[in-house]
Amino acid sequence: MSRGAFARALAARAVEPAGRRWLFVPYDQLTDAVGPLSREEPRRLGIVLVEAPWKAARRPYHRQKLALVLANLRHFALEQAARGVAVRHVVSPGAYADALAPLARELGPLRCMAPAERELRADLAPLVASGALELVPHEGWLTTRDDFDAAFPRGRRWRLDGFYRHVRTRSGILMQAGKPEGGRFSFDAENRRPWRGVPPAATPPRFTPDAITREVGTLVTERFADHPGSLDLGALPATADDAETLWRWALRACIPHFGPFEDALSTASTTLFHTRISALLNLLRLLPARVVADVAAAGAPLASREGFVRQVLGWREFVRHVHEATDGFRRLPDGTRPSVAAAPGDGGWSRWSGRPWPARARAGGAPRDPDGGARPAHLGAADALPPAFWGAPSGLACLDRVVADVWREGYGHHITRLMVLSNVATLLGVDARELADWFWVAYADAYDWVVEPNVLGMGTFALGDLFTTKPYVAGAAYVNRMSDYCGGCAFSPKRDCPITSLYWRFLSEHAERLRGNPRLAMPLRSAARRAPAQRKRDAEVAAWARATLARGERLVPPGASDVHAGSGS
Ligand SMILES: Cc1cc2nc3c(=O)[nH]c(=O)nc-3n(C[C@H](O)[C@H](O)[C@H](O)COP(=O)(O)OP(=O)(O)OC[C@H]3O[C@@H](n4cnc5c(N)ncnc54)[C@H](O)[C@@H]3O)c2cc1C
Repeated sequence: MSRGAFARALAARAVEPAGRRWLFVPYDQLTDAVGPLSREEPRRLGIVLVEAPWKAARRPYHRQKLALVLANLRHFALEQAARGVAVRHVVSPGAYADALAPLARELGPLRCMAPAERELRADLAPLVASGALELVPHEGWLTTRDDFDAAFPRGRRWRLDGFYRHVRTRSGILMQAGKPEGGRFSFDAENRRPWRGVPPAATPPRFTPDAITREVGTLVTERFADHPGSLDLGALPATADDAETLWRWALRACIPHFGPFEDALSTASTTLFHTRISALLNLLRLLPARVVADVAAAGAPLASREGFVRQVLGWREFVRHVHEATDGFRRLPDGTRPSVAAAPGDGGWSRWSGRPWPARARAGGAPRDPDGGARPAHLGAADALPPAFWGAPSGLACLDRVVADVWREGYGHHITRLMVLSNVATLLGVDARELADWFWVAYADAYDWVVEPNVLGMGTFALGDLFTTKPYVAGAAYVNRMSDYCGGCAFSPKRDCPITSLYWRFLSEHAERLRGNPRLAMPLRSAARRAPAQRKRDAEVAAWARATLARGERLVPPGASDVHAGSGS
């Protein structure tokens, strides 16, 4: 059988493997700018890179994500080989531990920076226990557990603000003489403008796929044919140079306008002025320290620079600490232990497609499967995710648009995730675990440490006020103010949008549980003031919307005819 482009290119760069110390480099640590790879002599180092189709098939991951991870891993292998590092690239039919155990016997004990992902840590645990793998500190983070603990002394509640102030002060980033630049730690209040077309939205760079990336594209299309999502190799940064191109573009085209339009939504652009770097940050193709330093030193307005720094130095680090401190929400600080799903979920793929997710059958039952993650449900939400999240038209223009964008790109910015997808799912009473699994498979930047806090905590309030202050729910007025989605909708945001009825219904349904939350005092008062007839109508519309979407049918305004009804089910 002829060897492929990647195997040939790697063979052409092969170096003498003897006499080297070996590192295991997981798929999400593709950097030589930190850790042992940054310090040790390339000619004394070897790296082991593992491709595990079993892992890729564990959930119905978006094809763009699979291609992104594989293309970056393979290019990283070639980049390291070009530096003189010996590269052992293996494709394993099973778990990572199963692939690494024989290699540790052959090459001697391996080292690895402690993985960010809990699933990988659990996979590798037996090797660590046996001494075959030594975990060294992960040097890609900007903050430590000490920072997290110091920010919340004496059981103070976990809140982004306290953490962010602490790490700004400790790191000196955007600080002058011990004070925050501009006199305030946050310019959030100024960063809430809708976008009406000016300045023009930033256009993300395109990349020319080389033979290695094209080969990955073919592999993904053939081997992972069951997986959802479009594959667009031209949108995929695969090499170290591509990562640099993306970041240069983000600095130039996005950061100057990042702040004011941070919360805006538009049909004209999935990007607006967001940087699209999360997938590369999470693979360490771009380093958080570097992007934060570049933005802090950029000439952009302070509100934009601060807005970006808050996301990366603040939110990104904060959610990772919350994930670790709770062992992925299996152990909450008040002693509660949410139930845990027995097996990895598919985010509703099986119901949508009418077929069971074939991962187990294909893997031959060999590898150890992890559990399916914590299943908190502070508000008792337990409904299935409606087929609309898999592409069945819902009749809600905002939801249909964002869902189509995600299945096309594997990307969406924060507000589409929070105020459209999570908002609608929360108002519909969707099981937060199933929603988290859906986000995990649909987004190219999703890994347990980041997707679970964002969905179970911020997106759905399934963890109560563990680390966020309130459920981020809103009616159609918010979506209409911040976006142009409503213009293309059969419903009117002022008259009959079901999202508004769902919102009022949500507030009255959960009033008892939410009472006492200062940030909800006003909405709860407004909900309580609604006349009995309005409440009755809210309940009826909410029940109709839930039932219709659960059947995979399209919502149609009363009196309008629906030529498409049921087409997506
Ligand atoms: C329901 C929901 C699910 C999410 N799932 C993920 C996920 O799976 N992976 C992921 O990386 N981010 C996730 N986020 C956070 C955030 O939406 C994305 O990081 C961001 O939209 C990525 O786009 P960008 O690179 O253009 O970000 P920008 O808007 O340009 O922001 C810059 C960077 O800040 C970081 N950041 C911003 N907000 C967060 C946050 N809340 N948590 C962690 N990092 C943050 C990201 O690294 C991002 O690249 C989620 C948010 C929500 C509300």
